[in-house]
Amino acid sequence: MRIVVKVGTSTLAHSTGRMNIRHVEELVKVLSDLKNAGHEVILVSSGAIGMGVGKLNLPGKPTDMPTKQAAAAVGQCELMYTYDRLFLQYNHTVAQILLTGEDVDDQQRRENFENTLERLLELGALPIINENDTVATAEIKVGDNDTLGAIVAKCAKAELLVLLSDIEGLYTADPRKDPAAKLIPVVEEVTPDIETLAGGVGSGLATGGMATKLRAAKMVNAVGCDMIITNGEHPEVLYDIAEGKAVGTRFIGKK
Ligand code: GLU
Repeated sequence: MRIVVKVGTSTLAHSTGRMNIRHVEELVKVLSDLKNAGHEVILVSSGAIGMGVGKLNLPGKPTDMPTKQAAAAVGQCELMYTYDRLFLQYNHTVAQILLTGEDVDDQQRRENFENTLERLLELGALPIINENDTVATAEIKVGDNDTLGAIVAKCAKAELLVLLSDIEGLYTADPRKDPAAKLIPVVEEVTPDIETLAGGVGSGLATGGMATKLRAAKMVNAVGCDMIITNGEHPEVLYDIAEGKAVGTRFIGKK
């Protein structure tokens, strides 16, 4: 199976912006094992800005563009250094790809990206993708990594996109506010009714929320790719997902 796993800042970093070592180490171990089992894995990783905040000892998530971009430049290094080191323990080679919206809108550049991705997978490497936050301005920004994950899944013609988040999946109401909220295990189609279930953006250092996740689902489902939202707290759920077990909320791709 060719699978794109998107991991959010809320999984990779503590609210201080410092790395969540336990989560990152578990994620690397499970992804390495999935590769060993013969799956093709592509990782879309957030956390550049969050980890830059931690490393530069900034008081919180910056609001101005130059500080955000400076934090991303610092944090992206930290992120790739860590992935490189940890994946090496399991004998896997990582490759960094940084994209902007412009890169995938332009046909030639998108094809270059797709060809590189394909070749990296053939060579057995594990592509790790993030937005090129240091150059992306509002006009050319993808904006959030849920959407970036969907773009990557489409370009890679993946069978499955998994969004590892700080929430179990899509609920009938906001579970942080309503204790009666129930997890929806399967969504056959993202209808307007489903869309009204999505609240605003997440909290802290994270960027996306349920709305960006539903948009991602629509994008990949339209090309026949399934999408799962699940909690990144325990990356071992990826084993269940690879075995086809029910985890989180699965959005079914059009077949
Ligand atoms: N590209 C941003 C970062 O790495 C994250 C965007 C997102 O999480 O949606 O910090």
